[in-house]
Amino acid sequence: MHSRKETSIMPRQSARLFANSIVIFSLLWTLVSYSASAETSSSTLTETVQKFLQTGAVEDAERHTLLAIEQAHQYGILSASTFFDVGVLLQNASRFNVANDALYVALDGYTRHGQLVEMANTLHHLGTAQRFLGNYDQSIGYLRRAQSIAQTQNIVSLNAKIQMELGLVQMAQGQVQAALYTLKKALNLFRAQRDTKSTAEGLATIGDIFVTLGQLSEANTYYQDALQIAKSNNDKALEAETLGKFGALLLLEGKTTEASKTLKQAISLLKAQGITSEISTTQAWLGEALVKTGETQEGLALLEGSLAFAKSTGRKKLLQQSRLALANAMLSLQQFDDALAYAKNGIIDARQSTDLRSQMDFLSIQVKALAAKGEFKRALDIQSVLQSIKEEVLSSGSEVAIAQLQAGIEIERQAQSIQVLQKTKQLALAEAEQTNLRTTLFWSTLIAGLLTLFLVWSRLTQRQQNIRLRREVKQRTKELEQKNSELETAYKTLEQVSLHDSLTGLYNRHYLESQLPGELKRSSHANKHQQGNNERNQDLLCFLVDIDHFKRINDEHGHLAGDKVLSQFADVLRDVFRQTDLLIRWGGEEFLVICRHSMRDDLPQLAERCRTAVSENVFHIDGDKSLRVTCSIGFSILPPVEHLSFEESWKSTFAVVDYCLYATKMSGRNGWIGVIDTNRAHVGDAQQTPLDKKFHFKQSYISTSFNTLSSIHWPEE
Ligand code: GH3
Ligand code: MG
Ligand code: MG
Repeated sequence: MHSRKETSIMPRQSARLFANSIVIFSLLWTLVSYSASAETSSSTLTETVQKFLQTGAVEDAERHTLLAIEQAHQYGILSASTFFDVGVLLQNASRFNVANDALYVALDGYTRHGQLVEMANTLHHLGTAQRFLGNYDQSIGYLRRAQSIAQTQNIVSLNAKIQMELGLVQMAQGQVQAALYTLKKALNLFRAQRDTKSTAEGLATIGDIFVTLGQLSEANTYYQDALQIAKSNNDKALEAETLGKFGALLLLEGKTTEASKTLKQAISLLKAQGITSEISTTQAWLGEALVKTGETQEGLALLEGSLAFAKSTGRKKLLQQSRLALANAMLSLQQFDDALAYAKNGIIDARQSTDLRSQMDFLSIQVKALAAKGEFKRALDIQSVLQSIKEEVLSSGSEVAIAQLQAGIEIERQAQSIQVLQKTKQLALAEAEQTNLRTTLFWSTLIAGLLTLFLVWSRLTQRQQNIRLRREVKQRTKELEQKNSELETAYKTLEQVSLHDSLTGLYNRHYLESQLPGELKRSSHANKHQQGNNERNQDLLCFLVDIDHFKRINDEHGHLAGDKVLSQFADVLRDVFRQTDLLIRWGGEEFLVICRHSMRDDLPQLAERCRTAVSENVFHIDGDKSLRVTCSIGFSILPPVEHLSFEESWKSTFAVVDYCLYATKMSGRNGWIGVIDTNRAHVGDAQQTPLDKKFHFKQSYISTSFNTLSSIHWPEE
C-alpha cells in the first residue's frame, strides 16, 4: 500500500503544464498590474509570495512567482533583487524548484549588471537548492562558481558559508572524507570571522557526519557544542534544530522513549520559530521513534507525511530518510514486501547520487526482509553485493584519511570551544566579577584583619603606655608629695621663723598682726550676741610685760646671760598663761600676752600671778650662776572702747597698756596697772584719772598692784 502511494505521485511535467496554462490565462492581467511601477510591483510580488507562504498557500506563491518570471523574460521589468528575495523565501519553504527558477532569474539580472557579490550570494543559494533536490553535481557547480567570486572579491564570510555548503553536499554524497576536510576549513573561517551562528551550524553538521560514520559519542560532543553556542547566542532556531539532531542521536542509541520526548520538544520549538524547512525532517525521526515505542499508527502517519512532503518538494535527503525509516518500520511490522519496496526505491536514488553508504543501508534492509521471507538465495546475492560495497568503501583508504581528518577537526572543535567560552561574555563577565568580588573580599578581609590587629596592638601599647604613665604619674605624685611635705616643712620653718621669735620660741609681732583681727571680730560678735552667764567669758585681755632693769643684767653678766634670762622668762610666761593664750615677744625684753575666752574681771588676778611667778623664779645664767628678776605689767580689756575698725581698736588698746606699763615703771616697778572696764568705774572711785583724761574715758575701771589709785605715778603728758 505504501509502495503504491509512492508510485502514484503526479509527474512533475503535469504540474508544469498546469502552471503554464495559468500563466497564459492571466498574462493580460499581470501585464496591467505589473507595468504601472517596477518598484511597487517588485515589493508587491515579494509581499504577495510571503503572504501566501505564511498562510500555507504554497501553490499560489509559486504561481505568482512563475508569472513574474515569465513576464521578466519577456519585458525585463522586475529587478534581480526581487527574484532573489522571492527565491530565498521559496527555498525556506522547501519549494526548491520554483525557488531555483527565481534565483536563476536573479543571477541573470546580477550577471548582466556585473554585480559580483550578489552573483556569489545567488549562486550559493542555487547550490543549496540543488543539494536539497539531490542534484549534487549541479550544486557543486554553482558553489564552485560562488567560491571563486567570493575568493577573488575577498568576501571571507561568504566564502566560509560556501565552504560549509560544499561540505554538506559532499556529505550528502557519502564522501565523508572530503566533507570533513571541507567543513574543517569552513570552521576555521567562521572562527576567524567570529561568526558563531555558522560555527554552530558547522559543528552540528560535523556531528551529522559522525552519525553517518556510526561514531555516536563524537556526534554527541559536536551537538553539545553547537547547542551551547545556540543557547549562549539565544538563537532559538538553531537550538531547535540541534535539539532535533539530539533526538535523532538518541534514536540511534536505542533510547526511543527519550528520543521521542526530545523530538516532540524540538518540533514544538521549530513550529514556534516558524522553521518549516526542518520540521519535516524532525517529524520523520519522531515517526521512526513512535514506531519503535509501539505507537505504530501515529509513527507511520508521520513518516508517510514526511515522504509525501519530500516528494512534493523534491527533497532528496528527506526522501531517503523517510524511506529508510519506513522500510525499517515495515521490517519490524513484518510487512516485508513494503520494506523491500521502500528499499528498492532507496537504492535507485542512492545509486543515482553515488551514495554508497545509503546504498548499504537499503541493501541490508533487503537482506533482512528476504531472509525473513525465506528467500535465502536472493538474500545471499544481495549480501555479497553489500559486502563488495563495504569493501569498496573500506579499501578506498578513506577510513584512514577520515581518522586523520577527525584528529584535525577535533583541534578545530576545541579551538572553537575556547571561542564559545569567549562568546559567552555574560558568563565570563559574571565569573570575572565573582573573581573580582572574591579578590576584593579577600583584600578587604585582610585589610580588616590588619586593622583589627593594629587596633589591638595600639590598644595594648596604649594600655602599656597608660600603665607606664600612671606609674610615672604616681611616681611624680609621690615626688610631688615629698616636695610638698618638704615645702610644707620649709614653709613651717619659714613660718616659724617669720612668726616666731628665735630666741624665746614665742610668737612675734607679725603673728599677732595676722591673728588679732580674727580674734577681735569673734570676741566682739560673741559679746554682742551671747547673753546670760557666759556673757563676759568672751573677753580678750591684753598684757604688756617688761623686765625691770634688764640693761643691768646685760651689763653685769653679759649679753648671753641676758639671752638666757629672756628665754627662761618666756618659760615663766608659758607657765602662767594658758596654752591657748597668745604669747608674743614684742621687742627686746617686752612681752605681749593676749588671753582669749576670758573674763575682764580676771585681769588683776592674772597680772599678779605673772608678777609673782617672775619674781619667784630663779633664772640660771652661766654655769651655777643664777639671778632673780622682776617685771612691770600694763594691761587692758581689748578693746577698752568699741571702735569700728580693727586698727583703731588695737591702736587704742596698745596705747592704754603701754601707758599703764609706763605708769607701773614710774610707780616703782615689780607691779601692775591696768584698765578692766571703761563703761563702769570702780566702786568708790569718783575722780577721773590722767588715763581717763588722756584717752577720753568718762571714768574707767582701773586696777593696780599698788596700794591705791592715788599712789600711781601717771606719766606726764
Ligand atoms: P627698765 O626697768 O626701765 O625697763 O630698765 P631696763 O634696763 O630694763 O630698760 P632699757 O630699755 O633701758 O634697757 C633694755 C635693754 O635690754 C637694752 C638692751 O640692750 C637689752 N636688750 C634688748 N634686747 C635684748 C636681747 O635680745 N638680748 C639681750 N641680752 N639684751 C637685750
Ligand atoms: Mg625693761
Ligand atoms: Mg623695755
